[in-house]
Amino acid sequence: MYCKNCGKETLPNASVCLGCGVNIGEGSGYCANCGEAVTAEASVCTKCGAALNNVPLGAKRKSKLVAGILGILLGGWGVHNFYLGYNGKGIAQILLSFCFGIGAIWGLIEGILILCDHITTDANGIPLE
Ligand SMILES: [Zn+2]
Ligand SMILES: [Zn+2]
Repeated sequence: MYCKNCGKETLPNASVCLGCGVNIGEGSGYCANCGEAVTAEASVCTKCGAALNNVPLGAKRKSKLVAGILGILLGGWGVHNFYLGYNGKGIAQILLSFCFGIGAIWGLIEGILILCDHITTDANGIPLE
């Protein structure tokens, strides 16, 4: 693993880069797989082809577990979508719950999809943790 902020090689179990002090996984300047410099907009590394899943520096990553449980328990009210920043989808779920009572089923399915890693980013494209 390489630090995505400074490109230094990191220890396998380290949570913080010893070179720059940034949390492992944050930053968007280098490929975590091979340490090659990449652009912040790139979604895959041009050298090794690894997915970059760039996390903007200092971005708050949301919890997959919290989002999934919110979806399963309160999905009809779109709570998990508001939590992840998908406000439009959350409002649609509330309307569906009011009008047809099926928003809860949609929310439940999304909660399961989140927990099973089928929905992996929030509305800003930041990977869940
Ligand atoms: Zn670093
Ligand atoms: Zn790479």
